[in-house]
Amino acid sequence: MSDCIFCKIAAGEIPSNKVYEDDRIIAIHDLNPMAPVHVLFIPKTHICCANAITEENSDIIAHIFTKIPVVAKELGLENGYRVVNNCGEDGGQTVMHIHFHLLGGKKLSLGMA
Ligand code: AMP
Ligand code: ZN
Repeated sequence: MSDCIFCKIAAGEIPSNKVYEDDRIIAIHDLNPMAPVHVLFIPKTHICCANAITEENSDIIAHIFTKIPVVAKELGLENGYRVVNNCGEDGGQTVMHIHFHLLGGKKLSLGMA
């Protein structure tokens, strides 16, 4: 998607503060962190949101969830963390390219962070 900010970040067209990258996904520090550690896991292929996950494309979501604990450990989140996905307007999704927030580095309250 040519006008999608996360597609552009995934393609290296917009700079980001990367913590992990492979051929299928990237993980970047959130520009506006809501916790001491706030990383976004983003598939390189454009999937708008959780509503668009299918049997055909769900491998990449599973792949993200295998890398979350690896990155969490690297970032020192031994005591736990939260993974959040916002879907659609009522879910608070502002970037319409699916991503998973990894939040931690403090005892999180019941809100997002
Ligand atoms: P959501 O509200 O779930 O769609 O989350 C979007 C997240 O992307 C927010 O936490 C923003 O702070 C973050 N964000 C937006 N643009 C960028 C960017 N260029 N680099 C890093 N994070 C960004
Ligand atoms: Zn996109």
